[in-house]
Amino acid sequence: MNITNLQTPINYLKGVGPNRADLLRKELGIHTYQDLINLFPNRYLDRTTYYKINQLQQNSSELQIIGSITAFKEVGTHRGKRLVATFQDATGTMDLVWFRGHKWIREQLKLNTPYVAFGRVNWFNGTFNMPHPELELLEDHEKSLRSAMQPIYPSTEKLSTKGITNKVINKIMQTLFMETKGKFVETLPEFLLSELKLIPKSDALFNIHFPKSQNELSKAQYRLKFEELFYIQLQLILKNLMHKSKIKGLSFNHVGHYFNTFYNKHLPFELTRAQKRVLKEIRSDLGSRAQMNRLLQGDVGSGKTVVALMAMLIALDNGFQACMMAPTEILSIQHYTNLVSYCNTLNIRIKLLTGSTPASERKDIQETLENGDLQVLIGTHALLEEKVKFKNLGLAVIDEQHRFGVAQRSKLWKKGPVSPSHATQREEAKQAGSPSIPPHILVMSATPIPRTLAMSVYGDLDISIIDELPPGRKPVKTVHRYDKNRLKVFRFIKDEIAKGRQIYIVYPLIQESEALDYKDLMDGYESIARDFPPPEYQISIVHGKMKPADKDYEMQRFTKGETQIMVSTTVIEVGVNVPNATVMVIESAERFGLSQLHQLRGRVGRGADQSYCILMTGHKLSNDSRTRLQTMVSTNDGFEIAEVDLKLRGPGDLMGTQQSGVLNLRIADIVKDRDILQTARYYAKKVLRDDPSLSKSDHAVILSTYRSMGKYKNIWNYIS
Ligand code: ADP
Ligand code: MG
Repeated sequence: MNITNLQTPINYLKGVGPNRADLLRKELGIHTYQDLINLFPNRYLDRTTYYKINQLQQNSSELQIIGSITAFKEVGTHRGKRLVATFQDATGTMDLVWFRGHKWIREQLKLNTPYVAFGRVNWFNGTFNMPHPELELLEDHEKSLRSAMQPIYPSTEKLSTKGITNKVINKIMQTLFMETKGKFVETLPEFLLSELKLIPKSDALFNIHFPKSQNELSKAQYRLKFEELFYIQLQLILKNLMHKSKIKGLSFNHVGHYFNTFYNKHLPFELTRAQKRVLKEIRSDLGSRAQMNRLLQGDVGSGKTVVALMAMLIALDNGFQACMMAPTEILSIQHYTNLVSYCNTLNIRIKLLTGSTPASERKDIQETLENGDLQVLIGTHALLEEKVKFKNLGLAVIDEQHRFGVAQRSKLWKKGPVSPSHATQREEAKQAGSPSIPPHILVMSATPIPRTLAMSVYGDLDISIIDELPPGRKPVKTVHRYDKNRLKVFRFIKDEIAKGRQIYIVYPLIQESEALDYKDLMDGYESIARDFPPPEYQISIVHGKMKPADKDYEMQRFTKGETQIMVSTTVIEVGVNVPNATVMVIESAERFGLSQLHQLRGRVGRGADQSYCILMTGHKLSNDSRTRLQTMVSTNDGFEIAEVDLKLRGPGDLMGTQQSGVLNLRIADIVKDRDILQTARYYAKKVLRDDPSLSKSDHAVILSTYRSMGKYKNIWNYIS
């Protein structure tokens, strides 16, 4: 049977017909033979063991027994009426019980003939009984392919009510394997099969549907998971390679005055080893003539900003402009002030552009940006506006990239028209069929995601990781407190304020219940104001309903130390830096996600003093909330937290819908099968390193499989 035959519509399969075909299409998306083969079971019932009646125990799970029916009787009346069959083996007797379908059952079942009964066993009135057993003639059972581990297929309510039960699917599957003789095209090359001891494709498909033992099943699962992950990785890596060879980048081969002066004279601290390493990775990209597309991951406070700044200085040294985009106004102001203070002796022309930049200044920015006077622009989404045109943008940095969509990332690409002074590069770009050379892109994220997941989700980005915090940081101490202990918490806050420290108190803001959240915030604010009265205490409040200017004013008061307490919704989640703040109180902490909690906690612990994070909750907590709180209390490591988050929420949810496409896996699980993922990635890389065009004969299978990938939307449509 070859691939084209597997494209045969499912209604041609014996036992399917137009009605069932229609249901299978609508309910499970099964159109062809191939789709059916790729309907992998969700789980299996182990039917490799047969129990004897005298081995039965109370409270056992589903199991199977070989025996014969010796008699039927009807017992009870009206609604309690039931059909009871005496079932006997060499060791004893038990009852099989039916509450429905008596007539049909009596007609179907043969007396004194060996059957296999499968089901859950109960203990009732001194005997064991099995209600509504699944019964199969021993003779058929021995012949059937499904005798050992019974697969349970994905199903829907509609399918089962319309009679397409698990048993029926199983039956259809058997017919399919009989018709195709179970011969399927091999989709992995010989050397991988032998090196990794993988079983052939045909065997794997057979055993995934009709495993005879746990061992056979495991081998089949491993082979199919590997294959799925291998081809996904291959696709991602190829995309990345093609991107690099096709998309010319600006070559920054010069490290000059700006970078060197900053590095040697103005850098206020020594870079950590991790910062040096990622900087080297970035520099090598910038000098490579291919466009950089790099994700810089690092926990909150790991020092990403200075790395980005130094990359920007390299762009400036090569005569290009640079920009940095942040998701909120507060954060871009902070970046701006930060960079200005780093750069004040370098005479760099740097400006801030946000939604609240006045029109006159906006105009000036646009003009100087276009004529090249302005070297660095920091700002919010405002940077993406049509009117913002650069003379020669060389590097675009995007902070907290998870806040932006892919579309926004690509908008920045188009902001890189080539200046006349780079005529050769313009020529190259023209030849490559693109009107301009895109700027290098550096995206930064403080929401660490596990490397394995990052590899799959951001396959088109290269990844640099800062996995080390600057020295001297004291880890934040985190505790969980119940609401009824609020007074103690307040006393603690007062002590900290007495030491001259500042406090954040954060309330949840969840879009759907905005009004309610707002009320919570205001109630909370009032109660805090009662406990911390002026003039001794000054409180700032910031929330989403305030005008940007008011927010900014309140933030400034807190930053300058004029207020000791900042009450806010999660607007402070991202990026704010007030080193004197040592306590982060999170109200209704059970309502926050792990990464949000971690981000919030990252607002403290930025100075030399010991900092604290206090998670306040009510008494009732779900298991997931409890896990989140415990995780926060037990670790400060963002990557570890991300792993837990991934387990709790699953990869699709974690990454948002737009990015979960590649995670639509049929058999592998990114979390549970990360070892296989590593192996698959390793081999995909190795193959492509040896033979990027997949033209070696050893790789012919990979190439043909890969080629058919484009034609189908689901990966499993081309690998079988
Ligand atoms: P994030 O990675 O969360 O964006 P920042 O770039 O805001 O972190 O850095 C956090 C703080 O750490 C800043 O105050 C910064 O000046 C400081 N910092 C960064 N790198 C170092 C370093 N190597 N040594 C000491 N302090 C550093
Ligand atoms: Mg930051």
